[in-house]
Amino acid sequence: MTSPLGRALSLIADVPDYPKPGILFKDITPLLADGEGFSVVIDELARHIKGLSVGIDAIVGIESRGFILGGALAKALGIGFVTVRKPGKLPRDVHRKDYQLEYGFDALEMHKDLLDPKHNVVIVDDVLATGGTALACHELVEYTKAKTIAHVFLLEISFLQGRNLINKTHPEVEIISLLQT
Ligand code: AMP
Repeated sequence: MTSPLGRALSLIADVPDYPKPGILFKDITPLLADGEGFSVVIDELARHIKGLSVGIDAIVGIESRGFILGGALAKALGIGFVTVRKPGKLPRDVHRKDYQLEYGFDALEMHKDLLDPKHNVVIVDDVLATGGTALACHELVEYTKAKTIAHVFLLEISFLQGRNLINKTHPEVEIISLLQT
């Protein structure tokens, strides 16, 4: 018999050749649309975060699917939520981190005054692929002197080795994913 968590994760849809030929896109929208499934994965991620070695002060979510998961997680844990966005979306003073993609560059921004240097945080996104986005977000948090204790994902695409990329520069950080493909 499939467990409630197994059923929830089975709702993630594989979309071949999206957005480009050769990419197998992991679409979490059917999971988000399922009330029980959404609730089960948030409870499971919250359980992992509560089990970390230190108390967590804030969830940092990466635009845009990290907002959905991260907002629900922050509410479940009774802690704050900090948005990390694509450039030009945040209206006040920001830290900015530019990073390399397979082809070209991208950047992430975070308001400067939302994290305290004493804060321990968890970074949340839906999918860990090459790890470039998560690593850039990690470095953005470092600018504030807050400490990233863990990265949390629904799903990890193992062959892209994102885990290794993050661990190369941050061997101490926990990397939690509910499903590895
Ligand atoms: P990466 O920086 O390569 O780890 O890519 C992570 C970001 O891109 C996350 O915000 C994901 O939502 C998105 N992403 C990358 N690859 C996929 C994929 N195959 N399916 C769904 N989302 C993906």
